[in-house]
Parts: sequence; C-alpha cells; structure tokens
Amino acid sequence: MADDTEKPVIVWFRKDLRLDDNHALNAACQSGRPVIGLYIREPETAGTGPLGAAQAWWLHHSLERLDSSITALGGRLVLTSGNAFEVLSNLIESTGARMVVWNRRYEPAGMAIDLRILRELQRRQVDARDFGGQLLHEPSKLLTKAGQPYRVYTPFWRAFESAPEPHRPLDAPSSIKFAAHQPRSEHLSSWKLLPVKPDWAGEFAEVWEPGEEAARAKLDDFLDGAMQGYKEQRDFPAKQATSMLSPYLALGLISPARIWEATRGLPLSPDDIIHFRKELVWREFSYHLLYHFPKLPYCNWNDRFDGFSWQNDAKQFRLWTRGQTGYPIVDAGMRQLWRHGFMHNRVRMIVASFLVKDLLIDWRRGEGWFRDTLIDADPASNAASWQWVAGSGADAAPFFRIFNPVLQGEKFDPDGAYVREFVPELAKLESKYIHRPFEAPASVLEKAGVRLGETYPEPMVDHATARDGALKAYNATKAAA
Ligand code: FAD
Repeated sequence: MADDTEKPVIVWFRKDLRLDDNHALNAACQSGRPVIGLYIREPETAGTGPLGAAQAWWLHHSLERLDSSITALGGRLVLTSGNAFEVLSNLIESTGARMVVWNRRYEPAGMAIDLRILRELQRRQVDARDFGGQLLHEPSKLLTKAGQPYRVYTPFWRAFESAPEPHRPLDAPSSIKFAAHQPRSEHLSSWKLLPVKPDWAGEFAEVWEPGEEAARAKLDDFLDGAMQGYKEQRDFPAKQATSMLSPYLALGLISPARIWEATRGLPLSPDDIIHFRKELVWREFSYHLLYHFPKLPYCNWNDRFDGFSWQNDAKQFRLWTRGQTGYPIVDAGMRQLWRHGFMHNRVRMIVASFLVKDLLIDWRRGEGWFRDTLIDADPASNAASWQWVAGSGADAAPFFRIFNPVLQGEKFDPDGAYVREFVPELAKLESKYIHRPFEAPASVLEKAGVRLGETYPEPMVDHATARDGALKAYNATKAAA
C-alpha cells in the first residue's frame, strides 16, 4: 500500500499568483507530499464577481508567468475551468490527493464557496486548510474594543499601529517536490482572456510587466526612488511618485506583508514611510468594510442615499467613459484608463466626483466601468473608494465636497504635463489655459491648433450649475430621510 504522504497535495492558486510569501504553498511543501499546482477558472455565475476585460489581460499574463516559475522548478500549473467544488472533487478522485490548501479570499461569494468546500472536504477526510496572506490582518480579528468592526479609517489605522506587527513574509521555496503525474491542463489560450479584434490592450504591455519578479523590481525601484518625498508628491499625476503596485496586489503577484516588510527600517523620512503604509492600510480598511458589509459593491453603505435622484443620462455616461467631457483633467484620466488600464489615484477621485456629482450618475455605473477597465480592479478598494467619493460610504467624503475639475487640474497638474500626455489635441495649449480651454481667447486656441467643439469638446456641463444641481439633489435626499 502506498505511503499516505506520497499522496499529493493540491495547491489551489487564486488571487495569490506567486511563490513568494505564499502560506498555502509553504504548508504544501512542509507536508512532504508531492505538489499539484492548480488554478480554477470559476464560472462568473458562482458569484465570484465578473472578471473585467482589462484584468483578464493581466490574469492571462500573470498565469503565464506563474506557470514559468513553476516549470523552472520542475512542475507545471494545471488550469481547469468549472465549479471549484466539482473540479477539486474530480481531481482528488483522479490523483488520490489527500490534502488541499489555499490562501483566503474575502469577496463574500468566494468566501461562501470556500467555506462549503472546506467543510465538505474535511467531511471526506481530506486535509483541507486555508491560510491568510492576502491581507496584513484578518478582518475578523481587528475589531473595536466592543468587538465591532471599524467604520472610520483613523481609529482603524490606530488599531493597526497598536496591533502586533504583520507576519514576516516567507521566502519562496527554492525547490518543490512535484507530483510525478500531473493532471491534464487546459490551454490558457482557450480561455480567450486576451482581446483580439481590436487589440485595445496594445499599450498595456509597454507599461506593465507581469510576474512576481517584476513586482519585486517595481517595489525596489519605488523604495530606491519615489518613496522619498512620497507624502508630498503622490498627488501629482505627471510625476512617477507612487509605487504602481496595485495591479500586482490585485492578483497577488506580491503580498502586502512583503511590501510592509520592505518599508521596515528604511533610512528615509518617517513621514513618507508612514504615509505609504497608511495607503496600504486603506486597502486593508476597504477589505474590512467588504468583509463586514458584504453588500458594499452594490448597496449604499449609508441608506440615506437609497432615495437619491440619480439622472443616469446614457449619453453623458458614454462621453465620460470616452474622455470627451470637455474638462481636460477628467478626459486625461479617462483616456489613461483606456491606454494603460490604470489611472492615478488623485485623478480617480476627480473623475469619480465628476461622474457622481456633476453628472448625477449613480456611483455603481462608475464602479462597474472601473471594474471592467482597470487592471488593478479590486472588489474592495473599488467599491469602497466609489462610495467614499459619492458620500454614501463609511467614513466618506461629505457629499457637498464637490471637486472643481479646473481647480483640481491647476493644483495637481500645474503645467498640464499629464493632460498633454493623454489629451494630445491640447498639447500645444498655453499652460494658463490647459485646464480651461473654454476660456482661452480665440487667438490662443488658434495658435495651439485647438478648435473647440471640433478638435476638442466644449464642456459637457457647466461646473457651477452642475454643482448647484448636485447640492439640491443631495438636500432633497437629506430632507426626505
Ligand atoms: P500607492 O500610492 O503607491 O499606494 C500603495 C498601495 O496602497 C496601492 O498599491 C494600493 O494597494 C493601496 N492604496 C493606495 N491608495 C488607496 C486607496 N485610496 N484605497 C485603497 N487602497 C489604496 N485601488 C485598487 O487597487 N483597485 C481599484 O479597483 C481601485 N479603485 C478605485 C476607485 C476610485 C474611485 C478611487 C478614488 C480609488 C480607487 N483605488 C483602487 C485606490 C487607488 O486609486 C489605487 O490603489 C492607487 O491609485 C494605486 O496606485 P499605486 O499602487 O501607485 O498606489
């Protein structure tokens, strides 16, 4: 009879497409069992959230890189589509696996699937285990003194500061004992994750290098460079002043603990380090909210907004998505999204405010658009941030704080470098008018080759009028509550 420890362990990769600091993989290696690395493409109907088109591109390349890393160690990544429970059951049956391990996820539907699988496998005497690692602290554990979830960021951050330090990251295994007989794998190309006609992701590959090695290189570059001055510079979209790590975190090509650890003891201004850590903790806070308020992606956190009179004008929404609003900073952001599958954080706030407050379009429309177009689309950060901007969220910006897109542009992109890059038809416009081309004298426009309404749109709404309309709609909601 075969020794039980010769029966394989399945490592179920999900949003942890890395070998570094991977607790499930580490446990599998420690078990001494031969390893099968598995990625399951679950049906969207399983409620794990639809995969956006931009993130599908990123997933394709990230899986390819993970497979290469595993192949370099003598194994392969097995790809299978289907209901996770059925896939695992079949694989256990066909390989004789006696152990299944994975790292936890926190999307409500995914958690429900995992719990069912955990119970069912344990009932069948399969050693099924889940691990942390996607977050720095488990959302079920970091609670107020009264045992309640935090609803406000600042006390959450303080709790974080006084909690035990996050775990030290585990190094990637230098060798892995893989199962001699690897199950059949589907071909990644058959999943059709890449766009074909048209290939709108052409420029993505110039900006984003997939894989965990690239993630580590990005982190190192940031720590050696832009981390110094992060606090002051991070709001300026034309500067390379932030880490650009969110796409890597979104699919787990790097762990937050690895990033946290790298910022420990750096010989830099504590202000910059703390500020950067605080941003990482915004990600944690978003997951904390999603965990404790599973309806976060589709229900107003503050139900006073349930009666809000959204206008939801389809034509206006389309102009916003295309970057044709007539407000340069908004258009630059929306076009960066098309071209790079990414947008700078400050500009995300500006375009979101414009959609929700100037156009009175429901934040869920914007959340959905971002989900489809961001390679870093994240169920927690996206929903929490949209609700934050809309004013409907936990610890949200008050609704009456309405960004003026012209002043925001002038403050954070003073010479218009960001606008010039993404709105090339304005590239030659004098800096004085780069954020307000509609106020430029005809001679200035002519010199820059701008014909308003032809080469670049007139503003689709007047901001001052739109602002009044937003405040009226908000006051009506308040009065009705
Ligand atoms: P850095 O400034 O280098 O920050 C380091 C890390 O901290 C980021 O990688 C990210 O993981 C985290 N972080 C930073 N800011 C935030 C924030 N405001 N909220 C939560 N985490 C943060 N982030 C996503 O990862 N996915 C999303 O889908 C997403 N949608 C957003 C939608 C809106 C409307 C807004 C306003 C923000 C959204 N964000 C989202 C947050 C933020 O814009 C991005 O995380 C950030 O721009 C990523 O760039 P970076 O890695 O260079 O950030």
